[in-house]
Amino acid sequence: MTSTLSPETSAPTEQEVDRTFLAAQARSDLLEQELRTQPERHRVLTGDRPTGPLHLGHYLGTLRNRVRLQSLGVPVFLVIADYQVITDRDATGPLRDRVRGLVADYLAVGLDPDRTAIFPHSAVPALNQLLVPFLSLVSAAELERNPTVKAEAAASRRALSGLLLTYPVHQAADILCCGGTVVPVGRDQLPHLEVTRLIARRFAERYGPVFAEPAALLADVPTILGTDGAKMSKSRGNTIALSASADETAAAIRAARTDDERRITYEPDRRPEVANLLTVAASLTGRSPVELADQVGPRGAAALKNLVTTVVNDALAPVRARRRELVADPGYLDAVLVDGTATVTALAVETLDRVREAMGMRYVP
Ligand code: ATP
Ligand code: MG
Repeated sequence: MTSTLSPETSAPTEQEVDRTFLAAQARSDLLEQELRTQPERHRVLTGDRPTGPLHLGHYLGTLRNRVRLQSLGVPVFLVIADYQVITDRDATGPLRDRVRGLVADYLAVGLDPDRTAIFPHSAVPALNQLLVPFLSLVSAAELERNPTVKAEAAASRRALSGLLLTYPVHQAADILCCGGTVVPVGRDQLPHLEVTRLIARRFAERYGPVFAEPAALLADVPTILGTDGAKMSKSRGNTIALSASADETAAAIRAARTDDERRITYEPDRRPEVANLLTVAASLTGRSPVELADQVGPRGAAALKNLVTTVVNDALAPVRARRRELVADPGYLDAVLVDGTATVTALAVETLDRVREAMGMRYVP
């Protein structure tokens, strides 16, 4: 990253980070209770960048949780963050195909377009217009010290663009335009949501209460590693895509990195790759990773990989069958997007009207 940070923009101390995390965890626990008893009082906002097909990491890390929230009866809003594709690359890529693929992935895992609005944020102008007043509510220093932005800028190995720097503000527009109150995140994404909460609070201080302050729902899910031992990630080419065939899945798992020790044990710190395979199998079977390790024991990595391949292919077989039917009907996938976009546009236009009213900006007759 190229920007020089002045002392006042230095990263938050470890203590500050811990305090923020503990407070967020407490809110998240309360929220989890409330979602079970009063789901209709909330709206969930979540989403993905259309940079490639969704994979096993998404399935275990977020998609299953989205389906769970949907079935609790909480309205879900799923943003396809297409403008954010160009935070770390120069072109948007084959968006039409990628977005149809994403919609197929969502529906195949059980997200239901009657309960979950799926929309690309570029298709909702009112959402994007919220960025202008929101940008006035945060300082450049606050954006520069955001640890998640720093990590993403470092990973992209390019100069920090204005779009990446303001990524959390755009996310605030995604969340607040449709009245989002619940944002499922991993711990590493908390600093982003803190920006949304800050914007909602400051807007209220300056102009009056238009926004509820959304809260993080902290997911207790593992980070899945890819076949190269790094975090499974669509832009790294180390994934097992939901759309992969059973044979492709078997080949990818066979090629996955492990270690030289023959006996299979579950030791996440010392043997992360082996532990990852056990975690995948455990998450899909409801059994414990230690129990699975004991079952394979002296039979070694090849036997473990056979087990994981069977478990993954069995779990994904119905998802893949539904997905095949869905991709055969691109007209339907497009109609889902048109519907979701209309739902969110109506909410975003109303929100923007209230924002401009509160700011004294609706004076043109
Ligand atoms: P990109 O390479 O474009 O960053 P990605 O594969 O890393 O894509 P994201 O769009 O960054 O995926 O991730 C969206 C969400 O999916 C994350 O916030 C996280 O909750 C979940 N997720 C992604 N990858 C994993 C993983 N490997 N393990 C667990 N959860 C994951
Ligand atoms: Mg990522």
